[in-house]
Amino acid sequence: MRTVCILGSTGSIGQNTLDVIRRHPDKYRVHSLVAHRRVETIYAQCLEFRPQYALMSDPDAAAALSQKLKSTDIQVEVLSGLTDSEGLVSSSNVDIVMAAIVGAAGLLPTLAAVKAGKQVLLANKEALVMSGALFMDAAREYQAKILPIDSEHNAIFQSLSTSVQSGEQSPIDAGIQKLLLTGSGGPFLHTPLEQFPELSVQQAVAHPNWSMGQKISVDSATMMNKGLEFIEARWLFDVQPNDIQVVIHPQSMIHSMVQYVDGSVIAQLGQPDMRTPIAYGLAYPERIEAGVAPLDFTKMLDFTFTQPEQARFPCLYLAIEACCLGQAASTVLNAANEIAVEAFLQQQIKFTDIAIIVEQTLTQQSLPDIQCIDDVLSVDAQARLLASQLRDQKAI
Ligand code: NAD
Ligand code: MG
Repeated sequence: MRTVCILGSTGSIGQNTLDVIRRHPDKYRVHSLVAHRRVETIYAQCLEFRPQYALMSDPDAAAALSQKLKSTDIQVEVLSGLTDSEGLVSSSNVDIVMAAIVGAAGLLPTLAAVKAGKQVLLANKEALVMSGALFMDAAREYQAKILPIDSEHNAIFQSLSTSVQSGEQSPIDAGIQKLLLTGSGGPFLHTPLEQFPELSVQQAVAHPNWSMGQKISVDSATMMNKGLEFIEARWLFDVQPNDIQVVIHPQSMIHSMVQYVDGSVIAQLGQPDMRTPIAYGLAYPERIEAGVAPLDFTKMLDFTFTQPEQARFPCLYLAIEACCLGQAASTVLNAANEIAVEAFLQQQIKFTDIAIIVEQTLTQQSLPDIQCIDDVLSVDAQARLLASQLRDQKAI
């Protein structure tokens, strides 16, 4: 029996994780649930999974959850404030941590799990984008096992030999030539460019293949998501930007590929369903049933690949540029994007302003050398301030 702490349990990844766990009560027990403020959802999760702890980062939500649990017979200790989650993930009673808080808020709890040497199922790509080498160095130092949950990185991981997976052999020594990162192109792959300034939130979050949280859905529409994944791949697999290529594959069946020097390409395929990578991460190196329907190749009509257009997806190219510039630029890019996407979701700025705010923040923000997490937090805070000013100038 392995025990699991879920950071971000009420979100899309959190709920999918619980769905896989629900199928294997003999293998996994939920130790703790951490979320922001969706009381009804976490309350239902507490009733079903009976964790020892439930933490809400919002104090009012924590109080409301406590109150609701009082009228039940279940013993869940309710905690409040995200800082306490660092203690939860480090508990000796936790084997596996699912890192699925969205955005920068997930950085410190995820890092705490890494420093506690846990099996870390990494969905929170922003944490790695913000901290890159520091994050991976900590994983090595504290012997944490990082298992990528982002479907692309999970696909790449599955396409590697065990010696590369474990870090014993470098990708170059293993004959890897390129990582081919696939992306669907999102809802606006074929939308005429002149319509872009007027695209609505509703249109942007309507992803053709995947059902996800709001922030990552907007990131998929701008393809900033693929840009963040580019940076994520650079660190997770210890390769250079030149070794990664983004390919549009609208059917989302191939989740990414690894090209080897002998001409072989190894790909992982499956339904666009996050329960596959989640089950892989939970059971690694074994396999468990995930509730996902098998692919039916006779029903696949098209299998196409194209290059992403720069004019359509400027955010992708800004992210690749930031990756080449280094850590501070990647941290700034992520911070500015979080501010801009939130403003777009609140209908304060236009869809096309997202890329403009990110680009201007990157150009105007100084990019110091990053040595430690405090440096990351300070660059992140400065970039948020600048991006917020730029947002206010744009406000509709
Ligand atoms: P979501 O918006 O559905 O859920 C986010 C979760 O984070 C919620 O449980 C929320 O309560 C929690 N949260 C947010 N702010 C918090 C805070 N300050 N303190 C504590 N908890 C907080 O997002 P999602 O789609 O599940 O994505 C989660 C992460 O996984 C993101 O980093 C995303 O990029 C990544 N990811 C998601 C998918 C997907 O299919 N949804 C795929 C790949 C990667
Ligand atoms: Mg992904």
